Amino acid sequence: MAEFDITQIRADFPVLSQKVYNKPLVYFDNGATTQKPRPVIDVVQRYYEKTNSSIHRGVHYLSDQATNEYEAARETVRRFINARESREIVFTSGTTGSLNLLSFSLGEKYISAGDEIIVSEMEHHANIVPWQMLCERKGAILKVIPFDDRGVLQMDMLPGLFTPRTRILSVAHISNTLGTINPIKEIIAMAHTRGVQVVIDAAQSIQHAAIDVQALDADYLVFSGHKIYGPTGIGVVYGKEKLLEELPPYQGGGDMVDVVTFEKTTYNELPYKFEAGTTNYIGAVGMAAALDYLTAIGMDRIAAYEQDLLHYGMQKLEEEGDIRLFGTAPDKASILSFHIGTIHMLDAGMIFDKMGIAVRVGTHCAQPVMQHFGITGTLRASLALYNTREEIDYLCKAIRQIKTMFA
Ligand code: PLP
Repeated sequence: MAEFDITQIRADFPVLSQKVYNKPLVYFDNGATTQKPRPVIDVVQRYYEKTNSSIHRGVHYLSDQATNEYEAARETVRRFINARESREIVFTSGTTGSLNLLSFSLGEKYISAGDEIIVSEMEHHANIVPWQMLCERKGAILKVIPFDDRGVLQMDMLPGLFTPRTRILSVAHISNTLGTINPIKEIIAMAHTRGVQVVIDAAQSIQHAAIDVQALDADYLVFSGHKIYGPTGIGVVYGKEKLLEELPPYQGGGDMVDVVTFEKTTYNELPYKFEAGTTNYIGAVGMAAALDYLTAIGMDRIAAYEQDLLHYGMQKLEEEGDIRLFGTAPDKASILSFHIGTIHMLDAGMIFDKMGIAVRVGTHCAQPVMQHFGITGTLRASLALYNTREEIDYLCKAIRQIKTMFA
């Protein structure tokens, strides 16, 4: 694609052309999940019609085809994040599955009573609770990097959080609630000088900008297919080969084994050691189609378009007046969390809905962020590559209507 052709892009997403309540759908719930472009829908349908067969275990034609497509999808993911080897790409059920895998396997290998794990105050529950569960199991300690009222991580506090007992630091690249883009390269470098391994939750960043795991020197990085225009139920753990080699498997079952006897079982090589049972191989192929779709448009173009949209949206919301925006970090991605005066978010959300606008209302699975601000939740409009300035204008029109109704 020579340039960012928004008309063509919107036409690629069938869901966007429908009306809800007889109003054109304005889909601003992309932080929760994204819509799927035609190539993803087509590949999944074609797969069920022509290729479906259990991977890795068959000697017949279809199983061979299915296995080849699954492994090609792994290679597509490798290329997309510039991993060194495709065996560094483990398919999971999603970011939550990936973080549970890592918290278990890292916990088994490295954590004992009194050890410390660092997360940030702006994490999604999926990057808090699995670590808390690990801490409970092992008697380890969870520490938290705070953020300031703009939603910027207080990096000056980080050095003081490290101790000789710190083993793991797990942090979001981009906050799903505040939109803050965290300085992960700097965080990784700080952790590495202290021998601490770092997990990056890229659930909200993988779809917004190019990620290069080698340039970041990331130890582990996780994301979900459904947030990057791919199918649900598929996700990724990237891990450096030598680190993954060291980790024990997470789940036991078929495919993750080499030799099984009742006396002893040996495990398969990477990445299969972490892929027990029948994986979501169709999801993997669908996700690869999504990555190819984005690559054809160009991640840099997507990032530039979305940044323009974000700044337009922030400016327009400010012009409306009486809007409280949560998350005003200078380095921010396309997430707008806000309150409209003192109008209850559920009332506002309901009226948005009746006007055809899909926003998210609530805590966005980030209750500690709400606790920071002393609020019970926010309205959240999270923008994607197919959203437009006209849709933001329509959001503002809806805000004016809501204000009039509650005046
Ligand atoms: N981490 C972040 C930052 C998220 O925004 C989300 C989902 O909203 C998750 C983790 C969990 O992702 P999933 O529900 O796809 O497992």
